[in-house]
Amino acid sequence: MFKKILIANRGEIACRVAATARRLGLKTVAVYSDADASAKHVSFCDESVHIGGSAPRDSYLRWEKIIEAAKTTGAEAIHPGYGFLSENEEFAKACAVAGLIFIGPPASAIKAMGLKSESKQLMEKAGVPLVPGYHGSDQNPVMLKHEADRIGYPVLIKASAGGGGKGMRAVEKSEDFDAALASCKREAINSFGNDTVLVEKYAQRPRHIEIQVFGDMHGNYVYLFERDCSVQRRHQKVLEEAPAPGLSSEMRQQMGLAAVAAARAVNYVGAGTVEFIVEQRADGSMNFFFMEMNTRLQVEHPVTEAITGLDLVEWQLRVASGEPLPLAQDQLRINGHAIEARICAENPDNNFLPTTGTLHVYDKPVCTAFERAELRNAGIAVRIDDGVGQGDTISPFYDSMVAKLIVHGQTREEALARMDEALAQTRIVGLATNVQFLRYVVRSPSFAQANLDTALIPREEAVLFNQEPVGLAMAAAAAIAQTLLSEKATEGSDPFSRRDGWQTHGVTQRPFEFDFRGEPAKAALTYGHDGALQLTVGGMSGPLAFSKGVQGIDIQFASQRVTATVYTQGEVDHVFTARGATQITAIDLLAHAGESHTEGGRLTAPMPGKILSFSVKAGDLVKKGQPLAVMEAMKMEHTIAAPADGVVEELLYAPGDQVTEGAELLKISV
Ligand code: ADP
Ligand code: ADP
Ligand code: MG
Repeated sequence: MFKKILIANRGEIACRVAATARRLGLKTVAVYSDADASAKHVSFCDESVHIGGSAPRDSYLRWEKIIEAAKTTGAEAIHPGYGFLSENEEFAKACAVAGLIFIGPPASAIKAMGLKSESKQLMEKAGVPLVPGYHGSDQNPVMLKHEADRIGYPVLIKASAGGGGKGMRAVEKSEDFDAALASCKREAINSFGNDTVLVEKYAQRPRHIEIQVFGDMHGNYVYLFERDCSVQRRHQKVLEEAPAPGLSSEMRQQMGLAAVAAARAVNYVGAGTVEFIVEQRADGSMNFFFMEMNTRLQVEHPVTEAITGLDLVEWQLRVASGEPLPLAQDQLRINGHAIEARICAENPDNNFLPTTGTLHVYDKPVCTAFERAELRNAGIAVRIDDGVGQGDTISPFYDSMVAKLIVHGQTREEALARMDEALAQTRIVGLATNVQFLRYVVRSPSFAQANLDTALIPREEAVLFNQEPVGLAMAAAAAIAQTLLSEKATEGSDPFSRRDGWQTHGVTQRPFEFDFRGEPAKAALTYGHDGALQLTVGGMSGPLAFSKGVQGIDIQFASQRVTATVYTQGEVDHVFTARGATQITAIDLLAHAGESHTEGGRLTAPMPGKILSFSVKAGDLVKKGQPLAVMEAMKMEHTIAAPADGVVEELLYAPGDQVTEGAELLKISV
């Protein structure tokens, strides 16, 4: 076994790898960018080396710097994590040239599986079932369309070099093919520098089921069962679980053997994932087809760890140091059920637009700390893998994943209940996240009943978006309770001393104004002679009583009882209850007296990023909602739309320009 390894990554995966290394007694070296100077992964490792600027190409992708860091610190091997250099054949080769061990597959296997078209040709030879389609080298658009017509619609056009859900276009009918092909090729050349595409049948009611495989240097292979990752947005995974609900043991074995055949065909070594698309036919039959192989540790590997009781990073380290696989196929068992939720800095109600900001509050559910958890006992009920702490910032430079929440139960129902509870205890203030959305997904009929396919999110749209888990009345009651409690703590409880209360016939009334979900709302609080409170808000009126409890503020209002935790950030109260979380803005009646609001036709960048293109020029007439520009930030493309009808006066940036958050991109006169 190695004595010291370098981890060529950041965030949760760098911390995850370091935890196992430490448990096995290995020393760890972190690398970091400017933005990550005080990141958790840096303090988590024994040593650290600064490798450059914040943008990945200036740091985490600079492999000559990383190799130099390994040499100077005396690390024997490099763990690439996922993303960044993990699937970079040149990097794997450069490690070998420098006398370092790359903790991953041989460069030849990375290359063989790197391009989707070429890997499909290989898999065809190895007898692995493929989705009907065209994955040849002829890229003539007329020929590709001809192939699509032959395959039959709907089809999927995929960038051969694609990844991360990018470079894919579903096409419903022949007439739409040419435009989709052109746009797919454009995205492919921009994102991957390679516009080769393949065309394949779009599977019916598709499920994404992948197999975890492992190989060693002695020719042994095993599969560590499957993960169902069907719940996706933008073709990217949001919730993953193991085992896959409803998968028969015969099909599990067939898929496992096909995945092992895929790995064997490329002399695979280490951890890899063979992704299959599973078609669910109307007659109930299921067929699986090879999609791609990811030649690295996968984001969702913890669900496999939870059901097998194994530590996959430990296996990676053992295999890379030349040891044989710790267990044979017949020694592997599935225990219970595990689900992972990816907690991301994004706004589901705004087309999942990534968000940035500071984690002012970051409360987590009680977990079995991973470093201490004896995974072998598979006793982990709740686990959080993250690379951030309270006070840290989610910056625009890297992807938007804040943390992974993993739960285990003896049954799927148990795991589901645990997930809902764990999400309820995950409280983040400072930036928008998908925590509440994940709770809706977990509770949606489709997910709860394991009616899974990749269209789950659009199908359940009605119960997933723009929900109101805590109504105005309770949100206002919580905000008022919080205000009164903090006033009591600072200035005493005498309502008569308040500047904004007034008195009539010995009864003190106090008005409140809120902004709740974009709508103004008024509330009135009445103090009775006996100190009892009466609240009127949102068409409800009744006694209000509250007290500070251990779990938060216990509130009773209009025959409802709720325990709420309220975090105040400026004028915004973030209210967390068992039913869900919401925000309510308290308008300071004195501060806002006489103020007027004006909304202009300003068009600003919602986040820092790069301008990719403008679709308008000065002088153009634009309609509200019309796309004006495309920017790239946090590895995704965002379309900027016109806020109102108007005329474009001036473009203030050019394609390729880097812009800061809030920068005015173009002027529109309305
Ligand atoms: P999984 O490991 O489950 O396949 P993803 O598909 O979301 O998870 O990708 C894993 C990681 O790979 C991501 O964190 C991301 O950093 C990286 N990645 C893969 N493809 C791309 C891409 N096209 N652009 C940027 N990052 C990518
Ligand atoms: P990436 O490299 O971006 O992960 P994949 O080929 O793995 O690309 O596909 C990503 C997702 O797109 C899959 O998880 C699945 O949801 C969807 N998908 C891919 N191929 C098909 C197909 N033939 N039919 C239906 N959905 C598909
Ligand atoms: Mg994939």
